[in-house]
Amino acid sequence: MYEHDVIVVGGGGAGLRAAIAAQEEGADVAIVTKLHPVRSHTGAAEGGINAALREGDDWELHAYDTMKGSDYLGDAPAIETLAQDAPEEVFQIEHWGMPFSREEDGRVSQRPFGGLSFPRTTYAGAETGHHLLHTMYEQVVKRGIQVYDEWYVMNLAVTDEETPEDRSCHGIVGYDVQSGEIAGFKANDGVILATGGPGQAFDHTTNAVACTGDGYAMAYRAGVPMEDMEFVQFHPTTLPSTGVLISEGVRGEGGILYNADGERFMFEHGYANNDGELASRDVVSRAELTEVNEGRGFEDEYVMLDMRHLGEERIVDRLENILHLAEDFEGVDGLKEPMPVKPGQHYEMGGIETDENGHTCIDGLYAAGETACVSVHGANRLGGNALPELIVFGARAGKHAAGGDMAEAKIETGERGDIEYDETELPYQPGEVGIDSGPSGVAADGGAVTADADAVVEQTVETERERVSTLMERDEGVQHSQIRADLQKTMTQNVNVFREEEGLKQALQDIREIREAYQDVYVDDPSRTFNTDLQQTIETRNLIDVAETITLGALVRTEFRGAHWRAEHQERKDEKWLKHTLVGWNDGDPTIFYRPTILEGENKTYEPKERSY
Ligand SMILES: Cc1cc2nc3c(=O)[nH]c(=O)nc-3n(C[C@H](O)[C@H](O)[C@H](O)COP(=O)(O)OP(=O)(O)OC[C@H]3O[C@@H](n4cnc5c(N)ncnc54)[C@H](O)[C@@H]3O)c2cc1C
Repeated sequence: MYEHDVIVVGGGGAGLRAAIAAQEEGADVAIVTKLHPVRSHTGAAEGGINAALREGDDWELHAYDTMKGSDYLGDAPAIETLAQDAPEEVFQIEHWGMPFSREEDGRVSQRPFGGLSFPRTTYAGAETGHHLLHTMYEQVVKRGIQVYDEWYVMNLAVTDEETPEDRSCHGIVGYDVQSGEIAGFKANDGVILATGGPGQAFDHTTNAVACTGDGYAMAYRAGVPMEDMEFVQFHPTTLPSTGVLISEGVRGEGGILYNADGERFMFEHGYANNDGELASRDVVSRAELTEVNEGRGFEDEYVMLDMRHLGEERIVDRLENILHLAEDFEGVDGLKEPMPVKPGQHYEMGGIETDENGHTCIDGLYAAGETACVSVHGANRLGGNALPELIVFGARAGKHAAGGDMAEAKIETGERGDIEYDETELPYQPGEVGIDSGPSGVAADGGAVTADADAVVEQTVETERERVSTLMERDEGVQHSQIRADLQKTMTQNVNVFREEEGLKQALQDIREIREAYQDVYVDDPSRTFNTDLQQTIETRNLIDVAETITLGALVRTEFRGAHWRAEHQERKDEKWLKHTLVGWNDGDPTIFYRPTILEGENKTYEPKERSY
């Protein structure tokens, strides 16, 4: 068994920042990650990092824009923490060597981004995430933080008291992709999940194949509620054939959208009379799909994004990477032609419920980055607000896990405090089916309750070894690829930008059938080493759990807020719905409950207003 004070699962932006912060508190830290850190999906981030750095801007404006962007579903303590801490975090990474783009006078450049009242998006060309990862990885190497890369984390070692709020996390179980070894990692002070998003639940996504929602599913089955999962961001400018992202930076620099009738529809059809192309992402995505659905799209599928008028010099200086992406993935020369774009799944606003210190309701278990929901983004994330979230809340989670001195959190977690239970009658039973091809989580598999942390980790290792044996011993059944394709198909058809009750019910039924099919999943590849078939089979099960929480939330939330559009419910219903949706695994029999949104900030209460751009 390996042993460290703090174990960070994931080496993306959130994981690296968390590990550095924990190390600064004197902890012995390890990062366990299925990809080498610099291959993490943060590397794909193009546009930039929001932080109020300049005269004329301040954290309160940033907080206000974020709250408005969230459609008043973000929690003020989280949003204000983000806005207050982001400048210092940006200075910190700048001091670590982040090569930000600069103005002639030497100041770090900032560009406008959708939904921002001030141009506060700091960037490094159109490769901000790539440079962020490399800058922080250098710090990790310099500090001697141990990195176990190509280790796939299969489960959390959590005790199994009846209520999650009484449980503790003592470590993880990892699978060494290179050797096939399955081993326990004991964490003396805490485990931080920084495992990124779940984009692979959809078939048209900007997310990499590694974005399989592992952290959500592991935390969920251990008893941590999933918060606001129905709020999925569909980015308006993805390349139609691959889902590859064309950064909002293009519109930030002045790029325009037009339809097949040559109209600049964001203005000409009144979707956003003030901000046009730079309205919030949910607004632009719906506008594009409306254009296509009403027959004004190209090939019934997409609209055009044009940046030619910006001129070669500016494009090459600030958006060079976009030229390569358009050329390589769509065969389009962005200097000479407009680029075809359509909405694609991009970001999960919801996630593992945490407080402002990254702590979940399970003692010793933390989450940060896209996989967490603190909640900063509420019903809609503003572009450029994910990267500051990684560094601000990554740092806080790392510091707290390592025992650093921090103020008590204002945000409550778990099934306690001011909560109410949902009473919607569901058309299909969510949750566990049969044996689910192995243990469904430490809590449900019984027998791990013990005061001895080593025993909890060892027992979890044993259950995971059994699970792998079961999967490997079968010589026939269904392959994960078929199951995953069915899941992606129903999610893309029924739980997309526009949602209808019948479609959501259909998705729940499909997910039920997909879970049943998963009972017969088998691993074709018998090898011990680099067995991606085995890894993807486990990932697919995680995607099923994540997809179900998204669909459940989408069905029970009978209003239109932010990215969540419902055909039958065309308005935001503040009286009933200023609250977070929480889905608890409940040992395989999910419960849905709600907690009020916190609108009281440090100096003011945010009054929900109509959101127009
Ligand atoms: C194309 C694109 C462009 C974007 N541009 C911007 C932008 O300009 N500005 C902005 O603010 N946001 C942007 N975003 C959003 C932002 O980049 C992501 O939300 C963020 O980078 C996620 O970081 P993370 O650290 O949470 O996860 P990731 O960077 O995805 O890292 C996850 C880590 O977890 C590891 N991992 C996952 N599962 C396991 C497991 N089971 N076992 C072990 N390790 C595991 C992976 O190996 C990886 O190291 C963009 C997103 C995309 C997709």
